[in-house]
Amino acid sequence: EVDLFEKDGNPLKRINQEITEFAVKTEQEIDKLKKMEIFRREFMANVSHELKTPIFATQGYILTLLDGAMDDENVREKFLRRAAKSLNQLNHLVEDLLTLSKIESGQIKMEYEYFDLQTLMVDAIEQVEHKASKKEISVMYEPPHDEVIAVHADYNRIMQVMLNLMTNAIKYNDEGGWVKLQLEDDEDSVKVTVRDNGMGIPEEDQRRVFERFYRVEKSRTKKQGGSGLGLAIVKHILSEHNSYITLKSKLGEGSAFSFILEKDNQANESTEF
Ligand code: ADP
Repeated sequence: EVDLFEKDGNPLKRINQEITEFAVKTEQEIDKLKKMEIFRREFMANVSHELKTPIFATQGYILTLLDGAMDDENVREKFLRRAAKSLNQLNHLVEDLLTLSKIESGQIKMEYEYFDLQTLMVDAIEQVEHKASKKEISVMYEPPHDEVIAVHADYNRIMQVMLNLMTNAIKYNDEGGWVKLQLEDDEDSVKVTVRDNGMGIPEEDQRRVFERFYRVEKSRTKKQGGSGLGLAIVKHILSEHNSYITLKSKLGEGSAFSFILEKDNQANESTEF
């Protein structure tokens, strides 16, 4: 509604200004939508490519078996195992994709609770021990003290962060290497670090490893068979916790991933744990 008897200023000028503002806003919205569309298309292309890899592999093993490889008992077992492994990889990929899309679209709400971070560290080590021992990698954790460190966070999601970081530290490491967990207990927060003496990440890739599907070199990951989504999931979970992940790494020497969680000091003071 226009007040033609407006005291200050020229009403036409004001209308003009409003139209210009509206046009700029519309243009910005269109830009945003265009960017989203490009992003969506790239994402779909990536997803299709990633899905195709294990599907083709499985198909290849099965067709080779049908082509006669089935008659050789050793080959049969080997190919069936490989096909099963590819399907397992496919399964992980789909699970990671679902997790990521649910977190991004806000469908997964963090379930905050109070828990002792030290207990989570011990549980996380237990879950990766089998993988680590296969490569004779030692997983170490030296508690900063033996008291409870209470945080207010989503236990399962922080566990997922720890598992993703620790699995990478094992995956991108040589046989006989190590993975160290560290907690730095400060007044209001606690810093968690997962350190390894593995292959490290070149400086130019360090920012990009948190992007979906980004891998340092195709060859290094092909052997390891990851989804390329692990660190993107880590980033999103921490962002839901109002936190973020940092990385320090040197090629050929190792990597250290860290994040900070707010402590719950009331719970830390109570004796209820
Ligand atoms: P992936 O499923 O490929 O492991 P991630 O998102 O977990 O996907 O990691 C992205 C890439 O970052 C990996 O492909 C790998 O090249 C690199 N990377 C991650 N963690 C480490 C690590 N601890 N040491 C060396 N490289 C790593």
